[in-house]
Amino acid sequence: MSSSASPVTVYRARKIITMNPAQPEASHVAVRDGRILAVGTQADVQAWGDVAIDERYADKVLMPGLVEGHCHLHEGVVWRYIYLGYYDRKGPDGKIWPGLKSIDAVVARLAEYAGQANEGDALVGWGFDPIYFGTQRMSVHDLDKVSTAQPVVIMHASMHLMNVNTAALRKAGIDRFTDIEGIVKFDDGEPTGELLEFAAMFPVTRMLGNPFRTLGQAPESLDRFGKVARNAGVTTATDLVNEITDDGIASLSAITADPSFPVRIVPAASGMLYGTRVEECLTQVDKLKALAHDKLHIGMVKLVVDGSIQGFTARVRWPGYYNGAPNGIWVMSPDDLPAIVAGYHRAGAQLHIHTNGDEATAAALDAIEQALIAHPRPDHRHTLQHCQMADAAQFRKMAKLGVCVNLFANHIFYWGDAHYGMTMGPDRAHRMDACRSALDHGLALGVHSDAPITPLGPLFTAWCAVNRRTASGRVLGESERISVAEALYAITMGAAYTLHMDDRIGSVEIGKYADFCVLDRDPLAEPAETLKDIQVLGTVLGGVPTDLPQGS
Ligand SMILES: [Zn+2]
Repeated sequence: MSSSASPVTVYRARKIITMNPAQPEASHVAVRDGRILAVGTQADVQAWGDVAIDERYADKVLMPGLVEGHCHLHEGVVWRYIYLGYYDRKGPDGKIWPGLKSIDAVVARLAEYAGQANEGDALVGWGFDPIYFGTQRMSVHDLDKVSTAQPVVIMHASMHLMNVNTAALRKAGIDRFTDIEGIVKFDDGEPTGELLEFAAMFPVTRMLGNPFRTLGQAPESLDRFGKVARNAGVTTATDLVNEITDDGIASLSAITADPSFPVRIVPAASGMLYGTRVEECLTQVDKLKALAHDKLHIGMVKLVVDGSIQGFTARVRWPGYYNGAPNGIWVMSPDDLPAIVAGYHRAGAQLHIHTNGDEATAAALDAIEQALIAHPRPDHRHTLQHCQMADAAQFRKMAKLGVCVNLFANHIFYWGDAHYGMTMGPDRAHRMDACRSALDHGLALGVHSDAPITPLGPLFTAWCAVNRRTASGRVLGESERISVAEALYAITMGAAYTLHMDDRIGSVEIGKYADFCVLDRDPLAEPAETLKDIQVLGTVLGGVPTDLPQGS
């Protein structure tokens, strides 16, 4: 066969894991015009033209570029602020920030930076999680030690909660008379500085100048996000709550179009911003589709039904939280949910619906069922995101409704011990993020990090789904483990399916984007316990190798 005008590149690898069942392995892949031209042996691919073979991956393993089906561009924003998490974490520049093991250590780190404002005149930290400190809660008494004059704001790891000091409360206009659900108060009626969910946090985010609305799409944030994603082997990443402003998407469109930007981005419009004004949201999405291109995919809509389990703001069914905490918060009223879901469904939009607790999952499934009865629609691929507490009956219902699921497997490691001992108790903790059940019911399955909630790294996420080990080493729900092969599928084709992009990404298959992840070892040949230790050496995007990862 003769070649066309465009040049062909052929990469040879020690092994290519394709995720294509018709041809699971190969040694060579040919690329033309950014797409996969041929996969197979040297003879197979050279039939398309007798071209020189690029040997740079000859002793490496290639697999499809990894797909992060639930993360946020906010991962590129948070590194502006002070890291306050419990576990060590690597920044985009490769620097390791040591984890902080007490509230005093959190206060001490903030005190090092006091006076150095990083958002307006405020000092902002992120990644804090009180669940690791037992019954001790942070309050204004702790954060006032950092400063009594400068506003101090710390975002919790879940992003659903905040703690602030007295100066921040004052500047945001929150006092004992402020009547908003989620403002925690001392027995004497004064606010403690802990703010639960978006309504209660809003006066503070407004006081900061609403930086999170636009910063995700600023050039410096996207640069950091691109580095973090590429270092993790990711070639397609979601931004699973995007405010889809004209300026934000224009910026995102321009920056991602740059050949040096290493990731395809899939933003989901925030249905939360529009509430019941479904038409308005869809009009905006349709308008912005004009700015989409091969590296920016627009169309999905995100809804958030409840909060987070470790923050005790998820809506859970009987018998409620194991430690007796009151039930969580409806972020979206269950009374409004059916009409909102029906509105998007009828218009042909794909919904990604955050449900953490099983009561929220039930509400979402009921809403989808009603929408489907009123408006049957094939291949809608509405996806429940997190869906951590789903039981067998809910998985059966998802299967019948054609709903996909993207489970939060990283939770098993980071919060599994807390779920076992505090939030859910042993029996329900065993069924959390039940990947085996999802697959056995025939569901399309993704697993995710929800970065920046937990670190972006699909191989680590896959390790969690395979091994189900908590930070203390306990195995949660051994029967819900999946195989390495199934987990690798979940972080490529599984996630691609939930994004309705399985025709373009997720496998090394003729016609698809030539997106690869470069590994030092073959994950299918290594012990399952070592999956998280396999090194990502780089990525290839549209046939072009990206720079080597930072800090590795
Ligand atoms: Zn999220």
